[in-house]
Amino acid sequence: MTQADIVIIGGGMVGATLACALAERHWRVALVEARPPQPFDPDSPWDLRVSAISRASQRIFEHLQLWPAMQAMRVSPYDRMVVWEEGAGEIRFDAADMAEPDLGHIIENRVIQRAAWQRLEQLDDVLLHCPARIATLETADEAVRVGLEGGETIEARLVVGADGARSRLRELAGIGVSRQDYGQKGIVCLVEVERGHEYTAWQRFLPSGPLALLPLADTRQCSIVWSADTPLADELMALDDAAFAERLQAAFGTRLGALRPLGRRAAFPLAGSQAQHYVQHRLALVGDAAHTIHPLAGQGVNLGLLDAADLVDRLRPGHDPGGRAALRAYERTRRSEDVLMMRAMEGFRYLFGNELAPLRLLRGAGLSLADRLPPLKQAFMRQALGLRRDLPALARVGCA
Ligand SMILES: Cc1cc2nc3c(=O)[nH]c(=O)nc-3n(C[C@H](O)[C@H](O)[C@H](O)COP(=O)(O)OP(=O)(O)OC[C@H]3O[C@@H](n4cnc5c(N)ncnc54)[C@H](O)[C@@H]3O)c2cc1C
Repeated sequence: MTQADIVIIGGGMVGATLACALAERHWRVALVEARPPQPFDPDSPWDLRVSAISRASQRIFEHLQLWPAMQAMRVSPYDRMVVWEEGAGEIRFDAADMAEPDLGHIIENRVIQRAAWQRLEQLDDVLLHCPARIATLETADEAVRVGLEGGETIEARLVVGADGARSRLRELAGIGVSRQDYGQKGIVCLVEVERGHEYTAWQRFLPSGPLALLPLADTRQCSIVWSADTPLADELMALDDAAFAERLQAAFGTRLGALRPLGRRAAFPLAGSQAQHYVQHRLALVGDAAHTIHPLAGQGVNLGLLDAADLVDRLRPGHDPGGRAALRAYERTRRSEDVLMMRAMEGFRYLFGNELAPLRLLRGAGLSLADRLPPLKQAFMRQALGLRRDLPALARVGCA
């Protein structure tokens, strides 16, 4: 039987980053991951799965020494963001207005995960179980026992579920999930843009959902996230490249000239969800295992990384990592923040997905008015960048 202080199920972006942070603080960590991380080849095209990474997440990566490895692989900063609805209004955000170097970075999920795994291999006190899957969970007063599919057992004082939206650990623990199916899918693919993206993240609101073009390191390439009602998304996925290009062009407009989709497309069903509890006796959930939100504001993994950073803050060296008070404090803080973000996303979706004339008028006026109110814009940008003061230590400047 393997012994550890903390066993983490799931070594994706959130679980692997959490493992680095805990091992840095000398907790003995066992990490169980079903699939070996994808290799990275700098000559390969950008992967379809990318994330817009906030400043708060960047700081977490910097404090854990993961950032240089990500930069050495591939990251793409963006310094402007334009959000609009045709015929209604437009709002523009610029990093220069905040005296910030950029508004965030677009990074491939595989780059984030790989940087964390490379670091894990250098750290003492980490036991990697990969490929391996959790099969059983047994909780006693003083310990938790995780059985793996191959028959091996890991005993620890705390088990953390970072195994994604369909968390097996959450299921084994009997924790329910409230789930709201958005009835939409997010289509992702790479596109070549004729005019160059100007290091700007572009988002157009359409009646069927938002279409985002995220700028990649090559100024003529963007990664798209096109959220559309499921029947439309299925129809778009079934089109050949030329017909898809035509529909994409019609949906986005001509701001970046001609758009040419590159390579394959993928579609992900979109749902908002929240676990009924984030913690239980000797158990905590982080990342998508605890909550999922609509990708329209690109906050999913950023919230998950803040879960990880907050949990690290709660676990005091020399104390029981499965202590009830610490876990409850973690749940209180993170749940309320996630609920706020989820409600904001619901509000956006309702406002922008609605064709009622008064709402159309309101959002048009709202976007244009907000664009002329610097304090409001700055407050919005601070939130999106993750520049609040009450962040976990790992996400603050020079505080880790
Ligand atoms: C189209 C789309 C666009 C998005 N864009 C953004 C964005 O721009 N910015 C942003 O912040 N977020 C974005 N998100 C959300 C983001 O992708 C997720 O929030 C993020 O992937 C969650 O990371 P995670 O590590 O919690 O879970 P996951 O990435 O799902 O990782 C879970 C890990 O657990 C492993 N695992 C699963 N089951 C088991 C098991 N039984 N045993 C062992 N291991 C297991 C898996 O192999 C995986 O490695 C987007 C999502 C979608 C769908």
